[in-house]
Amino acid sequence: MSEETNKDHNQDQTQEKAGLLATYFASLRKDLGTQVVTALVSGITLGSLVKAGTDAGLISGWGLTVTHFIFDDTMGLGGYIFVTLLKMLVVPLVLVSLVNGVCSLGGGAALGRIAGKTFSLYLVTTAIAVVLALTLGSLINPGEGINLATAEGFAGKEAPPLVQTLKNMIPPNPFESLSAGSMIQVIFFALLLGMAIRAAGEKGQRIADAFSDWNEIVMKLVGFVIAFAPIGVFCLLGSTFAVKGIGIIGNLAYYFFGVLAGLILHFTLVHSSIVTLARLNYVHFLRKMMRPLVFAFSTSSSGATIPVNLDNARKNLGVGSSVASFTIPLGATINMDGTAIMQGMATMFIAGAVGVELGLTEYLMVILTATLASIGTAGVPSVGLITLTMVLTQIGLPVEGVALIIGIDKLLDMTRTAVNITGDAAISCLVARTEGELDDEVFKRDPV
Ligand code: ASP
Repeated sequence: MSEETNKDHNQDQTQEKAGLLATYFASLRKDLGTQVVTALVSGITLGSLVKAGTDAGLISGWGLTVTHFIFDDTMGLGGYIFVTLLKMLVVPLVLVSLVNGVCSLGGGAALGRIAGKTFSLYLVTTAIAVVLALTLGSLINPGEGINLATAEGFAGKEAPPLVQTLKNMIPPNPFESLSAGSMIQVIFFALLLGMAIRAAGEKGQRIADAFSDWNEIVMKLVGFVIAFAPIGVFCLLGSTFAVKGIGIIGNLAYYFFGVLAGLILHFTLVHSSIVTLARLNYVHFLRKMMRPLVFAFSTSSSGATIPVNLDNARKNLGVGSSVASFTIPLGATINMDGTAIMQGMATMFIAGAVGVELGLTEYLMVILTATLASIGTAGVPSVGLITLTMVLTQIGLPVEGVALIIGIDKLLDMTRTAVNITGDAAISCLVARTEGELDDEVFKRDPV
C-alpha cells in the first residue's frame, strides 16, 4: 500500500470510529426523557425508603455502614461528577454560544431590542412572583405560633447598593471573570466581543465562522454529558433523599406548603400566560421541558442547568440560537421567580414569628429588594437563603429567622430551581416569537 493510500485508510478508520462514538452517544440520548424521569422517581423512592428505614432503626450496625457506602460515598460521588461535568460546560458554552448568537443577529439594534425585552420581562415576572407570595402569605399567615427564640446564630448579609450591582457587571479582567465563572461579567464581555467581531467586517467574519464551529463542538460536548443524565440524576436524588432527607416539616408546614402553593400558582398562571402569549400550547411546552425540569430539580442549580435548558430551547422549543444563547444564560443569572416566591413567603413567615406587622412601605421594599437581589446572584443551590438575608435586613427583620427554615430548604430549593428555569425558557419563547425567531415546526414535533 502506498503512503498516500495508507494515510487515507487511517483517516477513514478514524472517521468511522468517531462516527461510531457519535452513534453510541445518540443511542444513549434516545428516549432520554423517559429514562431521566424514571431515574428521578426511582432515586427519590429508593432514597426516601432508606432514610425511613434508618430513622426507624431498621437499618443499623453493618447495614448502616453499607448504606453509607452505597448512598453517601458511591452515589454521592456519582452525583458530584455529574453536576461538576455540567458546571464544566457552563462558561465555555455561554461564551461561545453568546458570541456566536450576537454575530448572527441583525445588527446592534436587534441586540438592544432583545436585551430590552428580556430584561423587562425577567424583572416584571420576578416582581409578580414576590407579590404573589406576599398575597398568599398574608392569607395563610405562615409564621403564627412560631417562636424565634429557637433561631440563633445566623449571620446576615447586607444588601449591596444598586450602584455596586451595576459596577459588578463590568469585568475589569475578562479572563478572571471567565475563570471565576462570574456569569453577568461573562455575558457582558461576550456581547461586546460579538459586536466587535461583527463590526470588524471581512476580518471579523473569519473569527465569526470559527465561533460558529466552536459552537457546534461545545454543543456536542453538552450532548455527551447529557447522555449520562439518567445515572447522574439517579445518583443525585438517591444520595440526597437517603442521606440528607428533606428535613422535618413539623410546625413549618404552613411555610413549606405556602411556598409550594406559590410555586405551583406561578408555574400554572404566570408561566402559562407567557407561553400562551407566545402562541404556544402550554401542556406541550411542559412536555418538552421535562428534561431541564428534572435537571434543575436534581441539581438545585439554575447555573448547572444552563447547558440542558439551552440545548432544549433550541432543539425542542424551537427558539432561535441567537435568542436562546442570550436569554437562557442571562435568565439563569437574573431571573429567579421561584426564589422570589420563597423570599416573599419567608419574609411573611419571619415577620409573623417575631410579631411584626408589615405595612405598605415594607411590602414595596420587599418587592424591590427581592427583585433586585436576584440580579447578579449566581444560580447555585441555596443561594436564595443568602439573598433573603438582604431582604430581611432591608426591612429590619432579624436575619436569625433564616436559621428556622434552613432545615427544610432542600426540597424547596429543588422545586424553586425548576420554577426558575421554566421562567427562563418561557420568556425565551416569547422573546423569540416577537423577533420571528421561533420555529413552530420544531416545537410541534416530539421531544428529542
Ligand atoms: N437554587 C436556586 C437556583 O439555582 C437559587 C435559590 O433559590 O437558592 O436557581
